[in-house]
Amino acid sequence: MPAPCAICHNERGNDIVVSREMKMGTGERFRYSLCAACGSLDLVDVPEDLGRYYPEGYYAYAFSPSPAKAALRRFFDRMRLKNHFGGFGLGSVLNRVSKPLEYLEWLDTAGLGPDARVLDIGCGSGELLHHMSWGGFPRCVGADPFVPQSARTAGGKNLLFAPMDVAAYAATSPEPFDLVMFHHSFEHMEDPDQVLSAASSLLAPGGTILISIPLADSHAFYTYRGNWRGMDAPGHLHIQTQKALGILADRHGLTIYASSRVPSWRGVVISRMYEKNIPDCKARPIEEMFSPEELALMKQEAEAADARGESDAGYFYLRRK
Ligand SMILES: [Zn+2]
Repeated sequence: MPAPCAICHNERGNDIVVSREMKMGTGERFRYSLCAACGSLDLVDVPEDLGRYYPEGYYAYAFSPSPAKAALRRFFDRMRLKNHFGGFGLGSVLNRVSKPLEYLEWLDTAGLGPDARVLDIGCGSGELLHHMSWGGFPRCVGADPFVPQSARTAGGKNLLFAPMDVAAYAATSPEPFDLVMFHHSFEHMEDPDQVLSAASSLLAPGGTILISIPLADSHAFYTYRGNWRGMDAPGHLHIQTQKALGILADRHGLTIYASSRVPSWRGVVISRMYEKNIPDCKARPIEEMFSPEELALMKQEAEAADARGESDAGYFYLRRK
């Protein structure tokens, strides 16, 4: 039986989509309920021990930078930030020749500067927060119930990891944040309403909640269904559409004031891989898994999906109404 939708609560006409566990490659089957009204997916068969799917090695790149590397990055990134926010000097050269610091686009969109206090919910290995702390942001906090012990290395006094979920963290921390981020973590959480409400309670006036997330209103889901990489069964408990996110934001007094979608290419490649029964743990270089003809067709397919605005992941910026 399909379940009532977790987001819009619709019960009529919902369907079942079956997806398999393809990260560790066990192939276990899990049912999702697909909402006929808002297009969201909710996991029906929630395993009793979800922690089993987050083993200590889940974060493939346990992040423990050497003190020398950290010191160098701290030196250079601070110059780059100074330049980005209006200074001159060596930072401008570095910014011209180096790969952009990914978080600057988020800050610019949110209208925030180098004094932003940042909370990363579901921070995983904590790599992003290490990077932001090197940039000199005054407070970088990560909340994640599964954060591995190895990731909790001290990165300076502006960096802190809380091994708990956002609701527990919100209950203990009255301190507000200017940027509360979910990077591919929101879909892992049991209760989207509780999580968004807790995140909203942690927002400073004018602050932004940034959610990057897989999207079910996408070519890759429409085409690959249970083999779509965005299902990531059973880790992804609730997968939304742009419409569903709008409903959820509205319910919590928030508005989506900016959004963007990422290119479709990875979504098409990984979904095709699953279609061929290749789990993540058995992935090989792309040229070994697909013929040149397949790759050419996949490229066309991804480009067409992008042109229609149907890529399978995106960024959403929310603030209080
Ligand atoms: Zn719905």
